Amino acid sequence: MSPRDPINLLLVEDDEADAGLVRRALRPLGGRFRVTRQASLADGLAWLAGNDCQVVLLDLGLPDSVGLDTLLRVRQAAESLPIIVLTGHDDEDLALAALEAGAQDYLVKGAADGPALERAIRHAMARMHLEDRLRRSERRLQSIVTLAHDAILSVDRDHRIILFNPAAERTFGYTAAEALGMPMAMLLPERLRPDHDRYLDRYATMGPASRSLNDRPREFVARHKDGHEFPIEVSVSKDAEGSFPLTATVRDVTERRKLEEQLRLLAATDPLTGLPNRRAFLETAGRELAGAGRRNRPVALVMLDIDHFKRVNDRHGHAAGDEALRRVAETCRDSLRAGDLAGRLGGEEFCLLLPDTDLPAAAGVAERVRQTVAATPIPLPDGAVLHLTISLGVAIAQAPESPGALDDTLGRADRALYRAKDNGRDRVELDGGPVALAAAG
Ligand code: GH3
Ligand code: MG
Ligand code: MG
Repeated sequence: MSPRDPINLLLVEDDEADAGLVRRALRPLGGRFRVTRQASLADGLAWLAGNDCQVVLLDLGLPDSVGLDTLLRVRQAAESLPIIVLTGHDDEDLALAALEAGAQDYLVKGAADGPALERAIRHAMARMHLEDRLRRSERRLQSIVTLAHDAILSVDRDHRIILFNPAAERTFGYTAAEALGMPMAMLLPERLRPDHDRYLDRYATMGPASRSLNDRPREFVARHKDGHEFPIEVSVSKDAEGSFPLTATVRDVTERRKLEEQLRLLAATDPLTGLPNRRAFLETAGRELAGAGRRNRPVALVMLDIDHFKRVNDRHGHAAGDEALRRVAETCRDSLRAGDLAGRLGGEEFCLLLPDTDLPAAAGVAERVRQTVAATPIPLPDGAVLHLTISLGVAIAQAPESPGALDDTLGRADRALYRAKDNGRDRVELDGGPVALAAAG
């Protein structure tokens, strides 16, 4: 509609004289208004239902309806229709109440000339248009908040919850009715509450320039209504003034954490034996050596290699070889105490990390593993029984806190292992000679 098109105006007015006043006022405006008059609410509503109307001038005192009720019934019938209420001189209170109840303006009957009436009508239409846009935008926002998969909640300056969407209900276990008006801290583990309150205030007073929580989500711990704690990812936005209310988007990341943990484990584990793989084992061993250096404690590495393993594959097939590897890994794991670690370095080569263990003690562990493997026959699916032996090399870390200590220790354990191979296999050799082995018995 262009501003030049005539405006369809409905005048609902039962009083002939008052209706005449409006018509006379509009007459000089020529074709700018097309006025239809109805004398009762029922007739007015019936006409509205069948006609395109841009604005209503509404007398509140009609034969079939009186007072604010008249306004409410027109509003109900036409949500976005600008309504200007017509009142008598002594009806100021009613006029103000009508504005509160959704009228866009009011006019005192007979008090407005043509131009004033036109201005009032156009203002009412513009205002309705803005109200309409605001209402639509609010509804859109509401549906976004309602349908969001992430919890959305707002807090006022007293840190009380003033918005709690359905996803927040699912995430935290409280209904909106339970959460609204409550301190936000109830969604946190008790130990975090005091800090969090301070944090909120600081965040709110840092001004719009502080974007720490807007740039990227941060991770926190939340508390469910049932008491269990869970990891969440939080983004916070504040309004342009950079103050309360603050609105946070909260995502429960329990599942993601589980997956990440599974992935980490998977990446660190040798799939055949379930032992830490080379990378994970060396990482742990490096940390362990550094710690042992700081605490001035001995730490031992035992390198271990299955004897003539190629023959197992050759005679019984690769699957049998795999089974043998699993059994040896099992034996390694079972012979260790808490704090020790076995890893598969590759092929049929394993390594044991023994913290707080000196050379004689490590030699004892190595010898026990050797004996156990030798004494444990491995039944194969094809009915055959394998008797495996292993060779082992033992070394103690020297200057374990130094950067090259792990490589150095692995190298010495490896050389000891090859001595064990050279000396006939199925035996333990110690870095530094056979003396300590004898001592270990
Ligand atoms: P030695 O006593 O000198 O150690 O003899 P060996 O036969 O064990 O010697 P070598 O280390 O050369 O052979 C290792 C064999 O282990 C070669 C390879 O086929 C086999 N192997 C390595 N990884 C796997 C595996 O994951 N599964 C199976 N079945 N065999 C493997
Ligand atoms: Mg071998
Ligand atoms: Mg080998």
